[in-house]
Amino acid sequence: MVRKAVYPGSFDPVTYGHLDIIKRVANIYDELIVAIAQNVAKVPLFTLEERIEMLRESVKDIKNVCVDYFDGLLVDYLKRVEAKIIVRGLRAVSDFEYEFQQALANKKLYPECETIFLVTDSKYAYLSSSMAKEISKFGGCVKDLVPDMVAKKLYMKFRTENVK
Ligand code: ADP
Repeated sequence: MVRKAVYPGSFDPVTYGHLDIIKRVANIYDELIVAIAQNVAKVPLFTLEERIEMLRESVKDIKNVCVDYFDGLLVDYLKRVEAKIIVRGLRAVSDFEYEFQQALANKKLYPECETIFLVTDSKYAYLSSSMAKEISKFGGCVKDLVPDMVAKKLYMKFRTENVK
């Protein structure tokens, strides 16, 4: 039986914190699907297509990882791709309450699923997509936070916005 895991998130955009989790999970499971949530409450900076492209480029050398997206409930997506493992990353206690609620809600909706938490690498404990966006927006350097291609996209996004 193929052990398949799903790592859901908004990935707006993908950071080195996400990539660290992806690489570690790819070593544990046979197959990992990084699934971009389309219907997040937050208004994303990048379109779904842009987020897919950045993630695909970032994981292209990891053989057992693929990138997909979903709309609607995560548990329905899990059933569709025949996966029972949800992967999430934990950075700080502040992540915990939300993650705990989500894990319990998903378990209620789909009792066969399990949520697995990986603790962040301490190097990335402070890192979030929002922080990378904020720093880039005000002209700061994000080269240690996101892959080069993502840094370029952030730069283009804000530069274009500024000249509008
Ligand atoms: P969401 O909006 O669903 O939280 P994100 O793209 O912000 O989506 O995050 C996806 C997952 O990655 C979440 O479980 C989040 O806690 C985790 N994550 C984000 N940044 C890091 C990081 N620096 N280290 C470890 N996990 C992280």
